[in-house]
Amino acid sequence: MHVAVINVGDEILAGDTTNTNATWLCDRLDERGVDVERITVVPDRVADIARVVNEYRAEHDAVVVTGGLGPTHDDVTMEGVAAAFGREVERNEEAVEWLVEHGGYQRDDLVEGTSHLPAGARVLHNEVGVAPGCVVDDEVYVLPGVPQEMEGMFERVAGEFAGERTHVVVVTVDEPESALLDRVEELRERFDVTVGSYPGEFVRVKLKDVNADAVEAAADWLRERVDVVETEER
Ligand code: ATP
Ligand code: MG
Repeated sequence: MHVAVINVGDEILAGDTTNTNATWLCDRLDERGVDVERITVVPDRVADIARVVNEYRAEHDAVVVTGGLGPTHDDVTMEGVAAAFGREVERNEEAVEWLVEHGGYQRDDLVEGTSHLPAGARVLHNEVGVAPGCVVDDEVYVLPGVPQEMEGMFERVAGEFAGERTHVVVVTVDEPESALLDRVEELRERFDVTVGSYPGEFVRVKLKDVNADAVEAAADWLRERVDVVETEER
């Protein structure tokens, strides 16, 4: 399964907010064996949101959008997603009823727009905050921007994101990356697993495949030939 992530918000583009939602989502999706192929940050503008959602839903199996929900004037994500489908936003009765029942709101107190979703969308209730999210055509998932709300909502639809579960071993090596090149190259030739190399204080060599035995064999081969700091498995 191939997925694209879109994060909406002027404050991310201005450098005021760090895009931890993208990192968190990519981590969870990767764990589920889903390939994330794009992360794109767009401003709070209907046309930009609509254009990118439309492009990505054509190219990927699903699109996850975060941020810009709720009734304030700068929250335009639902309009943008609706426009991508050529639909209007409309008051979603199920969302209203849930907020009245679980949120302690009076129907008339709900600010205009709080429960407006693209026509025909499946509502995702917000257990932590107020603004609901939604799923349009089992294809575009719209989640809140506040990390705790986004995470809670994602967990309830996580089962809809599936791929072949991969086995991962990360070997942390105390050698400069340039010195490691020969062994990493030989590792790639010998083993049919995905090899990533991430330099930092130490070099983290990440081995990944659906075949756990192949990953373990590759990790054993590497560990015998490098200066190992530690090994993580997942
Ligand atoms: P609300 O209904 O509370 O307005 P929302 O879904 O509209 O929530 P935003 O208004 O986009 O969310 O963002 C609210 C806050 O959530 C931001 O000020 C920021 O602190 C945080 N936030 C938004 N997007 C991200 C992101 N991509 N990564 C991390 N934090 C984020
Ligand atoms: Mg908001």
